[in-house]
Amino acid sequence: MDMSKNVKAVVKVMQPATPAEGAIAPLIKEMLCELGEDPTREGLVRTPLRAEKALRFLTSGYHMDLKRIVNGALFTVKCDEMVIVKDIEFFSMCEHHLLPFFGKVHVAYLPKDKVIGLSKIPRIVNMFARRLQLQERMTQQIAEAVESAIAPRGVGVLVEAQHFCMMMRGVEKQHSGTVTSNMLGLFRKNKATRDEFLALARRSG
Ligand SMILES: [Zn+2]
Repeated sequence: MDMSKNVKAVVKVMQPATPAEGAIAPLIKEMLCELGEDPTREGLVRTPLRAEKALRFLTSGYHMDLKRIVNGALFTVKCDEMVIVKDIEFFSMCEHHLLPFFGKVHVAYLPKDKVIGLSKIPRIVNMFARRLQLQERMTQQIAEAVESAIAPRGVGVLVEAQHFCMMMRGVEKQHSGTVTSNMLGLFRKNKATRDEFLALARRSG
């Protein structure tokens, strides 16, 4: 008999991707074989599990949430001077080669009426760095996240990075760095603001 009229369709609710620990390790073991290795030799026996753990950490940004990071650490201020957090170290993975790229992020903003706890900025950087990334997109995502968190008059983000996919795969370009920037609000409109930020970001120490 046809039950469909009586039974309500069970809609499968998509759960946020919860990591199924151990699901990646067998794939890494297989990859080791494909590379011509013997995954049963002593040094490699625990490698699949270790590599899975490392990969999950390096991509843990997918499971971070901006609201939870900011967690109310917004403070009302009269200050309208530029706030800059310099030299934030980051480590990310290029989405084209699954190889690391790393470097420094400089974040600045011009507050409207709120500032954010300074320790939150590096956490926002990590949220986007710990994913498979493009440097350009990461730069933009950090700027947009800061903008949406504190609604400032402007945001500037400058990222200086070195890419292993460039450094390891060819002889040339070993010391070349890649610089990207993203300017929002007054940082985009006002050259003096932008120049002030770039000068502060690039000043060493
Ligand atoms: Zn790459």
